[in-house]
Amino acid sequence: MTERIYATDAYATAMQGEVVRTDVDDNRVLLDSTVFYPGGGGQPHDIGYLAIGDDRMNVVRVTADSDGIWHWLEGALPALGTSVDGSLDWDRRFALMRTHTAMHALCGVIWNRFHSPVTGGNMQPGAGRLDFDLPDWSAEFVPIVETELNDELARQRAVEVSFLPRNAADEDPSLIRTKVNLLPAGIQEVRVIDIVGLDRQADGGTHVSDTGQVGRITIPKAENKGRGFRRIRIQLDESG
Ligand SMILES: [Zn+2]
Repeated sequence: MTERIYATDAYATAMQGEVVRTDVDDNRVLLDSTVFYPGGGGQPHDIGYLAIGDDRMNVVRVTADSDGIWHWLEGALPALGTSVDGSLDWDRRFALMRTHTAMHALCGVIWNRFHSPVTGGNMQPGAGRLDFDLPDWSAEFVPIVETELNDELARQRAVEVSFLPRNAADEDPSLIRTKVNLLPAGIQEVRVIDIVGLDRQADGGTHVSDTGQVGRITIPKAENKGRGFRRIRIQLDESG
């Protein structure tokens, strides 16, 4: 298995890892530890590079399976046992962290006002969309929710990571704000992201440590997809 540094330290941008498995067919290596997020929960995988001395191999894809975390490479595959220096495309990752936290904050704002669960979501650096089962929505709520969301972000609420035993998580249905219980059957421990006082949910992704780092957001669009299905888009303000 791979030590997932990103799971406890989202701000780690680089690491040293050892190649513990190689896969020539897919030109990828499994490392004993990594800062690279393999994707999941709507957050795309990281990109970056692995280096051996001055030689850099681009990490173009990252995936997870039961063996650990695979780094898909451009260029020659390092040999088993090689020590590599990994480094993230940090600008991209940090934008994803800000986006991901903004989306959880939106979940909290929608929940507090409508008690509506999220049914899906996706993001790219700086922009995301969340789907809600939101029968009471109308267009007049766009500026209201946008203002409430920005007010919450500006409160600089702490974003805390913790780990709960599976049985404790199962006894707390509020942790799963989606309509479907997404916790895989086999997992023994549940990672929880708590935007203190606003939103708390089971999540594997990477987040900023306080909501002030998100900056301001806009809601360019909220679409009615029929039968209570609303798709709300958010955009980070990159003007600084
Ligand atoms: Zn999430």
